[in-house]
Amino acid sequence: MRVTLFSTKSYDRRFFEQANQAVGHELTFLEPRLDRQTVALAAGAEAVCVFVNDCLDADVLAELRGLGVRLVALRCAGFNNVDLPAAERLGIRVVRVPAYSPYAVAEHTLALILTLNRKLHRAHNRVRESNFALEGLLGFDIHGLTAGIVGTGKIGAIVCRLLAGFGCRILAYDPYPNPDCVANGVEYVDLPQLLAESHIVSLHCPLTSENRHLISADAIASMRDNVMLINTSRGGLVDTREVINGLKSRKIGYVGLDVYEEEASLFFEDHSSQILQDDVFARLTTFPNVIVTAHQAFFTSDALGNIAETTLANISDIAHDRPCPNLVAASR
Ligand code: NAD
Repeated sequence: MRVTLFSTKSYDRRFFEQANQAVGHELTFLEPRLDRQTVALAAGAEAVCVFVNDCLDADVLAELRGLGVRLVALRCAGFNNVDLPAAERLGIRVVRVPAYSPYAVAEHTLALILTLNRKLHRAHNRVRESNFALEGLLGFDIHGLTAGIVGTGKIGAIVCRLLAGFGCRILAYDPYPNPDCVANGVEYVDLPQLLAESHIVSLHCPLTSENRHLISADAIASMRDNVMLINTSRGGLVDTREVINGLKSRKIGYVGLDVYEEEASLFFEDHSSQILQDDVFARLTTFPNVIVTAHQAFFTSDALGNIAETTLANISDIAHDRPCPNLVAASR
């Protein structure tokens, strides 16, 4: 199939070219993000391959269809950036990579928790400046704490196991409890109980129209004082302004984010020579007890290899009219 890949970096090209040797699709790598301004670049393609911050709203999808595109291949798990009903109406199929390395994201979640707790980001900078003082670096034992995991699918279930390994009591909220988690001693509770009892709250559910700003002012008010909030899922799950208020009032003690609701205009690019225009994000980065990584939780060589192989296999399935296990529901 002729496939145009949007939002690509050198690492995407490397892993896709390697995986494509076995399947032989015609790949065109583009750097721009797919949106209304760039959609014309898909001319000549039968499929577009996109990532988390490409915009596939109804207008973009209609233009794609007009250009002859019949497949959207997401090279990620989440599909909140695709208007699925519009895709279905237009006869565009949507495939994704539901699992490429849940370990990558789960391990990054632990990295954020450990770094925030032991303040490794600050300690590293201090030692480089020959400041060996410990004042301000006090941490706590994770052993014995209660961790609340929101969403216990592939990633959340691994986070449960990792934190159980530290000796945490694990509470979980998920409309569809995971039997493996139950067997491993995870206690399923409702969301209010999870928020009220957890020292660490970590989000691992998809973003949907129903759970936008799941972490709202009310949710924050119901949490333990000094709570640690971790979001490696999707930025829109968290009301960032309310998190800032919670940090300023010291209700929230620690925040670790790999995703941000307005990340599309920031992440994956080098803006270091420009003036940051997003005042909310700028404020977030001023707190000593906040760590933001730029949507890098997935970024391991294992994950990139799996993403490329699965995406190309999805495209091959559609090209050869074979059943594809990774069709997104509304496009089946
Ligand atoms: P998954 O589909 O295996 O699991 C998601 C779980 O969330 C399911 O068990 C589902 O029942 C549950 N869920 C749905 N709505 C919920 C709600 N409102 N409250 C609580 N639980 C709910 O997905 P996964 O592979 O574990 O990925 C989880 C999320 O991680 C993805 O949706 C994606 O947004 C995010 N993600 C981030 C990165 C990154 O690099 N930061 C990489 C991959 C995935």
